[in-house]
Amino acid sequence: MTHSQQILDRYQAALIPVFGVPQTVLSHGDGCYVVDVDGKRYLDLLGGIAVNTLGHGHPALVEAITKQASQVVHISNFFTSEPQVELAEKLLEVCRAPAGSGVFFANSGAEALEAAVKLTRRTGRTRIIAAQNAFHGRTTGALALTWKEAYRAPFEPLMPGVTHVPYNDEDALREAVADAGDDLAAVVLEPIQGEAGVRAATDAYLRLARDLTRGAGALLVLDEVQSGMGRTGHWLAHHATDVVPDAVTLAKGLAGGVPIGALITYGPDVTALLTGGQHGSTFGGNPLACAAGLAVVHTIESDGLLQHASELGAYLSEAMTGLGHPRISGVRGRGLLMAITLTEPVAASAMALAREAGFLVNAVAPDAIRLAPPLILTQSQADTFVDALPGILDAAVPA
Ligand code: PLP
Repeated sequence: MTHSQQILDRYQAALIPVFGVPQTVLSHGDGCYVVDVDGKRYLDLLGGIAVNTLGHGHPALVEAITKQASQVVHISNFFTSEPQVELAEKLLEVCRAPAGSGVFFANSGAEALEAAVKLTRRTGRTRIIAAQNAFHGRTTGALALTWKEAYRAPFEPLMPGVTHVPYNDEDALREAVADAGDDLAAVVLEPIQGEAGVRAATDAYLRLARDLTRGAGALLVLDEVQSGMGRTGHWLAHHATDVVPDAVTLAKGLAGGVPIGALITYGPDVTALLTGGQHGSTFGGNPLACAAGLAVVHTIESDGLLQHASELGAYLSEAMTGLGHPRISGVRGRGLLMAITLTEPVAASAMALAREAGFLVNAVAPDAIRLAPPLILTQSQADTFVDALPGILDAAVPA
């Protein structure tokens, strides 16, 4: 029996099986590669699902974490630290938040959404419009905004007042906003629905959401947990438009793998909605996570990773489409958040075959393979996957 199989057996005996059986047991990584406990090496094209912005073992991240760990890891929110304040300032800058904006630090995407839900409640209104196929997390508030029935049903009744409208359907959004009337607290949208298979909102849809919420006196909350922090070639995916939201949620790639989440409130009026004692977190904003976040943000800036994500994403998308493989119907997404769309439901099989061939990818839908690699992926590394893809797809079998 392989070492990884032994550990997987122990996993099944010791962990609550909410994730099913993991694919393998990873041991360590270096740059865009990870190695499993049996010594097999993989090109990591998933990056911990859009988390490992700087790949694995990046010197800037290692140095920041090591230095901060040797100084102070945790201090409670009775105190603050320089990394916390500096990261908040830096996020306000890169998120283009105006004067009077603010940051609340949490530890995950779902927690960032929980903070956003509480923010919306402080409007004195209770109705929220979210999108069909949206994914906002698994905590109960975030779950109420999440669409998928299989995730929701076992935990109902969830927080009331949430209406899900078809994504990118302008008329449906107009109707739902009109229907909610004076009780509309917020519209919550992902600029790109990652878990739904990497589907982007049109610029016009985001703009309409902005106009309608402004007209209704409600908040526009953009969930950039997956699409933010440079992944699309912009700091935030919605920066491709002129839309200015009232709040943004961040997590995943923000600290390159160290748990962190953030709610950004735009402008003094929105920021004033949450006041003393109305929210909190033991670990949120701890110096270790914030030092890691700063290392990520500074490296994205110093290494030009926004432009790189944009250019490599375009290159990779064109290279995969250009294969002309009969099972590829297209490539969608922005920057380095993309899905290869397939003409048949062979994604799960292709994911397993890719792994055998030394590539980590994700079957995000039966007919879509998601790529969300580290932003430091090189073109020659990407090429190795493009070269292997036809063979993988030829051999893949429908689910
Ligand atoms: N929001 C979006 C858009 C996400 O993609 C995710 C996770 O995939 C979440 C929220 C939840 O984040 P977390 O798993 O860190 O709680």
